Amino acid sequence: MLQQIDHLGIAVRSLEDAVPYYENVLGLHCEGQEEVESQKVRTAFFACGEVHLELLEPTSEDSPIAKFIEKNGEGIHHIAFRTDDISGQLKQAADNGVRLIHEVPIEGANDKLVAFLHPKSTKGVLTEFCMPK
Ligand code: ZN
Repeated sequence: MLQQIDHLGIAVRSLEDAVPYYENVLGLHCEGQEEVESQKVRTAFFACGEVHLELLEPTSEDSPIAKFIEKNGEGIHHIAFRTDDISGQLKQAADNGVRLIHEVPIEGANDKLVAFLHPKSTKGVLTEFCMPK
């Protein structure tokens, strides 16, 4: 079952450029940066209450984030819902005809398992399920 919105993913060209905006203008605290090889991104996390912001910078030209920025520019990339049963959540989506990007969860940032639903099946919102390991 879904527990809460865990984070919003935001595509940026450069963490170096983007992080000062979140720190200085919004006054949020950067909790750390991490490279996620499986998704070819470097991430920076900020907490805002219970919800986090996950800035995503592409680490290679064939990164899904690089392709997203090329097509849409920088901005909101995905919504991540925290669940206590990621496999059950994926099955529920698949059973309802939703196209899955990941049929099996992959390693995400912050020691979580993650899986994405295809935005063509989710009314245009790239949707992530995440579950702490
Ligand atoms: Zn995410």
